[in-house]
Amino acid sequence: MTISTLAGAPHIHYANGQLHVEGCAFEALAQEHGTPLFVYSKASMLAALSAYQRGFAGRNAQICYAMKANSSLAILQVFARAGCGFDIVSSGELARALAAGARPAQIVFSGVGKTRREMREALEVGIGCFNVESEAEIDVLNEVALAADRVAPISIRVNPNVDPKTHPYISTGLKGNKFGIAHDRTLATYQRAAALPGLHIVGIDFHIGSQITDEAPYREAVERMLDLAQAIEAAGIALEHLDFGGGLGINYNGETPPEADALWATLLAQLDARGFGQRKLLVEPGRSLVGTAGVCVTEVLYLKPGEQKNFCIVDAAMNDLPRPALYQAFHAIVPLAQSAPAGAQPALYDVVGPVCESGDWIGRDRTLAVRAGDHLAVLSAGAYCMSMASNYNSRGRAAEVLVEGTQAHLIRSRDSITDQMRNEHLA
Ligand SMILES: *Cc1c(COP(=O)(O)O)cnc(C)c1O
Repeated sequence: MTISTLAGAPHIHYANGQLHVEGCAFEALAQEHGTPLFVYSKASMLAALSAYQRGFAGRNAQICYAMKANSSLAILQVFARAGCGFDIVSSGELARALAAGARPAQIVFSGVGKTRREMREALEVGIGCFNVESEAEIDVLNEVALAADRVAPISIRVNPNVDPKTHPYISTGLKGNKFGIAHDRTLATYQRAAALPGLHIVGIDFHIGSQITDEAPYREAVERMLDLAQAIEAAGIALEHLDFGGGLGINYNGETPPEADALWATLLAQLDARGFGQRKLLVEPGRSLVGTAGVCVTEVLYLKPGEQKNFCIVDAAMNDLPRPALYQAFHAIVPLAQSAPAGAQPALYDVVGPVCESGDWIGRDRTLAVRAGDHLAVLSAGAYCMSMASNYNSRGRAAEVLVEGTQAHLIRSRDSITDQMRNEHLA
């Protein structure tokens, strides 16, 4: 049996009764490195990337991995070596991207709250583009660029006011969101920016949300962006590139998002029909490049039968896997051993962590046949897990392993207690 149908993860499968990622058994990795442990399949990341590359074959396109999805250095290195640029949202991410081998000209800087210091640092390294999110930011960036004797390449993020039909916390392109410039202010904002000597307009961008599983919101947002692009160019302002953000969803629990190549076949036809198909195109995928490539392996600590609920208490928690607590998100949870161990009866459990919060759950109402000491795999944990991990409850952040065939590279050691207290001082 393979579980590829369960979570859309083709490189994760059972062999000889044990769950494997590529040529490595998770059980052996858990024995060697301890739990909770994040394990990533390099082949799965590259397969996800190749769907975008196929979609853009023959076009002038740049894929900028949105590194907030997973910003571990070795993950960034895989994408940098594969030719990706990066979408960053802080100078910390800039430093990480550069440390992993990114080319500064292929980096775009998004986010509503860039500081002057962050702007200066990005200008100094020669960043490809600032995706500017407000009229106030335009003025500040102009000042910072002039003071540094530079010209800042900019794109203005437009808010197309489309509903991506995803969780409200990850919808970003609706009127009520903090992101981007309102559609009807866009042309005037471009005209203002064009008059500022510290800025050079290079593009236009949108990003409407995350975990989008339907083509329609993209089609709608593209149509609105092209209306604006035409109006901006008619006003004499050239746009070198169009940037469509990220947001494509993955299969967590039977969702059927379009494949990147299929989505882009549709969107490119739309661009071609309006004469924009040969323009430089940028995309900023995050989740869809790393989400299904990652698994969090966790150990069952205790089984706790209850009057209303049975609890399966594991050693991973909301500080490792924050998505259920944040968005009530679903991760599939499967045992590493394909057949139920002797003495384990299937039962319905809430899978919960040790953190002292009722929001600390990993999965609800899951049928599992497990005993204390068994290992479970929390699937589709490559995106927005480790990058959001914290030390809450003074728990060390997990270790991470990158698998390449039968090789497993430890790419992050588990936090030690010294790591956790490093920057603290008794008064
Ligand atoms: C988060 C983000 C992305 C990536 O979103 P995914 O849903 O992970 O693909 C891209 N662009 C911007 C501006 C973002 O904030």
